[in-house]
Amino acid sequence: MTATLANENASQAAPLAARAPSRGAARVDWLRRVGTAQNGWSRAMEIAPRRRHLAYDPWEDIEAFAEWEVSVTGRLPDGYLGLCGFGARKIWIKAGQPEWQMRSTLTHELLHAERGPVPAGQQKAEERAVELLTAKRLVDPVVYDALPAGGVGRAIAGTALSTSDLAACRLLGVDKTTLRVYAGWRRRVTASGAVRVWDRHRMMGDERRRGGLGRHERP
Ligand SMILES: [Zn+2]
Repeated sequence: MTATLANENASQAAPLAARAPSRGAARVDWLRRVGTAQNGWSRAMEIAPRRRHLAYDPWEDIEAFAEWEVSVTGRLPDGYLGLCGFGARKIWIKAGQPEWQMRSTLTHELLHAERGPVPAGQQKAEERAVELLTAKRLVDPVVYDALPAGGVGRAIAGTALSTSDLAACRLLGVDKTTLRVYAGWRRRVTASGAVRVWDRHRMMGDERRRGGLGRHERP
């Protein structure tokens, strides 16, 4: 399209910083297209799409939950992206989340369904356990290790996430909580150990789809 080409040519002449959108999705896109290639992101950007087919896919895993209903809905209480109803055997996922966020939310709720309800006093610990399992299952350790150190710097430090953290979320296909939990876990785990855990989770997903939910998770 001629108009687009003309715009791009014009924008080449402007200083990069002046053309950078200051926030939001446009900023993340800009980082991926321009900024990231300049500061060590090119390797992660190159391998992430090539490895995507290897990754655990919660949408495929729904098959293993034959007695459960998963519904994507616009109506959830404020502050909730997903909910798991053990009595109704139903999972609700909030509509309109970006794909990387939704992948994390659905994986989280499927893990609740898989593990079952816990007594009231154990709910906080269960929530932390599910967040960690979600991270181990979803974050590809090879892509994570290819990110430049600054790409997950704030997630590791536990402070507010930066725009580059959001770009990392997009590349890894996970939400911010999952990235932060994973970064904390990876401080104590070697690259080969992380690959073994990730492989085990992927294979368990395949097995469960073949054999139903009879097998219980022992990650
Ligand atoms: Zn939860």
